[in-house]
Amino acid sequence: MKFITLLLFWCTLSTLTAQTGAPNSYSDILKNSQIKIEMLFPEGKSKALILSYDDGPYQDRKLVELMNKYDLKGTFHLNSNKLDLPNYLTKAEIKDLFKGHEVSVHSANHPNLTTLSKIDLLYEVIEDRRELERLSGTTVRGMAYPFGNYNASVLDAIQGVGIAYARTVYDTYNFTIPHNFLAWHPSIHQFGKAYFAPNQPEVDKKEIAAFTQLVGNFLKSDTLALLDVWGHSWEMGDSKEKWDAMEQFFKTVAHNPSICYIKQIDLVDYIHAYENLQFGVDKKLVTNLSSLDIYIKKAGKAFKVSAGTTTLLLE
Ligand SMILES: [Zn+2]
Repeated sequence: MKFITLLLFWCTLSTLTAQTGAPNSYSDILKNSQIKIEMLFPEGKSKALILSYDDGPYQDRKLVELMNKYDLKGTFHLNSNKLDLPNYLTKAEIKDLFKGHEVSVHSANHPNLTTLSKIDLLYEVIEDRRELERLSGTTVRGMAYPFGNYNASVLDAIQGVGIAYARTVYDTYNFTIPHNFLAWHPSIHQFGKAYFAPNQPEVDKKEIAAFTQLVGNFLKSDTLALLDVWGHSWEMGDSKEKWDAMEQFFKTVAHNPSICYIKQIDLVDYIHAYENLQFGVDKKLVTNLSSLDIYIKKAGKAFKVSAGTTTLLLE
């Protein structure tokens, strides 16, 4: 009888311990789930700038010279069958001109891809990739849609041909990272929509003001911000005023310690590597299986997670 009483007492005590232990475990897990993990851009920066230019006109020479002067990085979407034509870059200069910048697909002939048969569409993308890879000596995996046009069939067709992202022309006027990299909407066209129609000085003034304001907001932003500016160097033509405005924009954004100046493909690869980080359940350990150093914030504190290592995230 005495033994049974003791056994009952022990059982009751165990049950009570288990019951009081359970809520603590749950609350620990919940606490961990509320620890916020955020991505930072390469080198731990909170801002990133993409400069994305289309068509490969000869004015790209001047644009690249300006970018190099201010240590900026550009992404250049080229039509390989247009190179060597009057008013375009030559094939022979692609490799040297774009050293340090990204060379990317814009289709071989610049057609509206949504009007093509699948075989013609695939030719436009794959032929452009093949020729640009030959000319640049790099692996070409980025793209901008000619005229910004795409639809479900285009998206479907480019899934399997080695394109990691494809930029549209639909400006978001914000600094968020797109969800669908194959429908990558940029932040804003250079100078807004100024100069789209000739001789509209009032419209131009308004658009330039909107562009300047967005760039200012980007520079002031204290949260993760991507500014993705796109355009064409031919829009500047021979206008000293427009080229001066471009240089002024470059001056405004250059050499800023909080900005990462990046090729679009490098940002895409970086985001994939960030998304592939392997966290322990309690978020104290993280393994980076990639070949890129990844920078994160855990509960507001910045950490570098070096390539190919496991890092202890001490608070
Ligand atoms: Zn174009």
